Amino acid sequence: MKKYFMNPWKMEVTKLEETIGELHQKVIPYFNEGYARMNDDIIGNYKELIADEKLEYDSQKIDDIYIKLAKYSQGLIKWNDPGAMLNINPPATIASVAATSYFSLFNPNGAQDMSSGHLLACELAVVKMICQLVGWNENISGGIFTFGGKSTNMHAIKQGIQRIDSQIAKNGIDEKILCFSSMQGHICHKEVCSWLGIGENNCIRIETDELGVIDLIKLEKSMCDYIEKGYQIATIIVSGCTTLQMTIDPIKEIVELRDRVVKKYNMNYKPRVHVDSVIGWVWLFYKYYNFNINKLGLSEIVLEKLSRLCHKISEIKYADSFGVDFHKTGFCSYLSSLYMVKDRDELYLQGNRTPIKYSELEYGNYSPFEYTLELSRPLSGPIAAYVNLKLFGIEGYQKIMGNLMESTQYIKDIFKNEERFEVVNEKDSDGFVILFIVKELGSTFSFETLGREEERIVIQFGEYIHKFYMYLFEKQKKNECWFSLDYSSGYRTLASGKKIGVLKVYPMSPYFDIMQARRFVDDIKKMLVEFDKVKENFEVKEVPHKPRPFVYR
Ligand SMILES: *Cc1c(COP(=O)(O)O)cnc(C)c1O
Repeated sequence: MKKYFMNPWKMEVTKLEETIGELHQKVIPYFNEGYARMNDDIIGNYKELIADEKLEYDSQKIDDIYIKLAKYSQGLIKWNDPGAMLNINPPATIASVAATSYFSLFNPNGAQDMSSGHLLACELAVVKMICQLVGWNENISGGIFTFGGKSTNMHAIKQGIQRIDSQIAKNGIDEKILCFSSMQGHICHKEVCSWLGIGENNCIRIETDELGVIDLIKLEKSMCDYIEKGYQIATIIVSGCTTLQMTIDPIKEIVELRDRVVKKYNMNYKPRVHVDSVIGWVWLFYKYYNFNINKLGLSEIVLEKLSRLCHKISEIKYADSFGVDFHKTGFCSYLSSLYMVKDRDELYLQGNRTPIKYSELEYGNYSPFEYTLELSRPLSGPIAAYVNLKLFGIEGYQKIMGNLMESTQYIKDIFKNEERFEVVNEKDSDGFVILFIVKELGSTFSFETLGREEERIVIQFGEYIHKFYMYLFEKQKKNECWFSLDYSSGYRTLASGKKIGVLKVYPMSPYFDIMQARRFVDDIKKMLVEFDKVKENFEVKEVPHKPRPFVYR
């Protein structure tokens, strides 16, 4: 069995390099050059797909294992491909993947520094850098890596609960506890309420305006109403850049609102204000950008948007905590999520531990497992984040996000002057996601006014969009369409209160630049013309996977 492990006397890494190379060779046949989705000839369901799999008695040859494993890479999205436009899923940098893979050989456990050595200090170093980024005092503030953005929100509610009563951890909950979020807030806000035992229905969603911003008057009123009914409030989750609309709530005003309510009811604890900024933290890098000098030569409209995003997210320093997903806008592989707290002692309280002073942490006394949700913990997240923060630097993050903003703005600007295309989120979003629709030749309707039309017309309008999505989807399968965009129910309701599905472009690859944006516009315009020729009799035959159904609700 020794041969399967690194020789402790030689500690040579060549075998790892070679083995990765061998796996790569097996995966190569599935690469579909010039297309985002890898080749696949998968038919049937997963049960059929794995029908031949069985637990083996004998050792299998690595070569054979990898041939089989490589087959499972079929249909995989190459997120570095400029045509990958499906979601907030970045490609990971080579340097970060190399570092996490390499250190996996040593299998460091983030539970305790006694086994993982100073590698655990990587986590502290990342926390320190993020403290600097927001403007928190690293001696007082802290953070911990955990299993995803979902968990950062879970931590925020858990630590809100422990503010209500520090004994709840021991005795359990026997009070009526709530958390607040907005209609725009992520679905996981209520899911974690279920995991924490306070119940999904106790995640109160406050209405937003058309920009997706939480209604502060309704929030305050709702908080007061519930307090008067005897409820306790654990946490207010503030939007710090929502997934699609990229909305950032007024953080400082919400903190002040919270303080007002605490004073009004003479509460003996402060409900937590947590910013779900797992995507939006990245806009903080523009704090260091001189918008007048504009070194990166960004266009005026992009500068305006970035400055608004940055200005709003900069208020994060007033919050009690926030989340950072390095596996989203940090360009790390999964999972790399960081939960940041202004008062690091609140982390220790999770385990009812006596806080150790920051200045007294040293090799041998640093044991996060005493208060983290996980016991054993991977260090891949901190290592990847550490590498990328250094690799990109502040300017690198400005460049990579600036490019995505610039390339998508280019598309939006062109669509604005096209009769057949209409961007539906230009007015209400500063982000780089493009939601748009295509219109039938000669159509005089617009998405803006559609709500006032007869239902029959709205449905016909929506069906055309969906059919074009299906057309593009089939073209992907036939290798006739290099980009993979998505169909989304969107967030906008028509004036009639109904929603129709729209097309979504959510690029994340640094290879998606102005040149690719131009190519996208040219090609999609051509495809729309071609589609019109066949649309009457068009029926999808082959598709990469089950397409999204038509949305009208
Ligand atoms: C992605 C996302 C989450 C969930 O994060 P995971 O890392 O997928 O667990 C929560 N909130 C927002 C706003 C997100 O975009």
